[in-house]
Amino acid sequence: MSTTQTNKIEIIKATSTKINDVDFDNLSFGAVFTDHLFECDFKNGEWQTPVIKPYAPILMDPSSKVFHYGQAIFEGMKAYKDDKDAIWLFRPEENHKRFNASAVRMAMPEIPEAIFLDGLNELLKLDAEWVKRGNGSSMYIRPFMIATGAGVVANPSDEYKFMILLSPAKSYYAGEVKVIIAEHYSRAANGGIGAAKAAGNYGAQFYPTNLANKDGFQQVIWTDDATHTKLEEAGTMNVFFRINDTLLTAPTSERILDGITRKSLLAIAEKEGLKTEVRSVLASELVEAAKDGSLKEIFGAGTAAVVSVIKGFSYKDEYYELPKTDDSYASLLKEKLTGIQNKLAEDTFNWTVQV
Ligand code: PMP
Repeated sequence: MSTTQTNKIEIIKATSTKINDVDFDNLSFGAVFTDHLFECDFKNGEWQTPVIKPYAPILMDPSSKVFHYGQAIFEGMKAYKDDKDAIWLFRPEENHKRFNASAVRMAMPEIPEAIFLDGLNELLKLDAEWVKRGNGSSMYIRPFMIATGAGVVANPSDEYKFMILLSPAKSYYAGEVKVIIAEHYSRAANGGIGAAKAAGNYGAQFYPTNLANKDGFQQVIWTDDATHTKLEEAGTMNVFFRINDTLLTAPTSERILDGITRKSLLAIAEKEGLKTEVRSVLASELVEAAKDGSLKEIFGAGTAAVVSVIKGFSYKDEYYELPKTDDSYASLLKEKLTGIQNKLAEDTFNWTVQV
């Protein structure tokens, strides 16, 4: 291993690479990681010297607070390689801002942009060979922070570990997605942590999602916890509905994650002259629209799947299937967004940032 210091980041290079063992045409999402990771510890009230080092297991005290009290947050973002082999990030400052908002809500320290973004840039440069070209290929980026302070007493940790992992990804087709609208379980509540990318939000969804899977539905559309009448978001995606020619999506709130794909699609839709409305959509309204034929499309939007078309939904034990559309908004928006992300189309919004 060779050790160097760049911009105050210590770099310990792996002595061999795993890249030749990877079948880049058959990647399962989130399963393969690159040769290196980025790590920075928080101790004595400050962030320590960051390090990039070979990907390896970490050793932790079993009483670390993350295991007992769930202080854990993460982000999900992507990098893309253009046809000249330059690497680009998509709206990375948005992920940094959201990460810090999550940190504040979970009583964890905020991380400076100079550690989060410079660390990510250096890591991507070192593992650049792992970022593949072509529409559909991307590098999924997983920054996360956990409470590493020891002691089983329920108060915030005074030590934390921040890490960034890189996982090469291929665009995936989620298959035919049918969803069930939640009538009992909730993902988030007013005053809760729904707007944070806190690990516990995801763990809490697994059980009701398993129940939905058993009934043949791949995802749950979460509703507001108080009345279970307003449609909020799904799994790891915000949701869009097209009724007649209007594209609808719920406003973000303390129960809904402020998705970067969501706000990018809204901006693209407006630029394309599509009618958009950001307002609460009621489950009853969706049922009415499905019955009278005005419900044209439902799709999820998020970094991992980009746009995921929803074929039908179940509400109060009744299943409603959507008609096929020739002029799909989902396809149009996906094409425009991935065009910008992959540097195939002009980035008129200035969303892409070169590594
Ligand atoms: N909602 C939830 C709960 C999510 O986990 C995600 C994924 N981060 C999204 C929506 C979509 O957000 P983004 O477009 O920023 O990936």
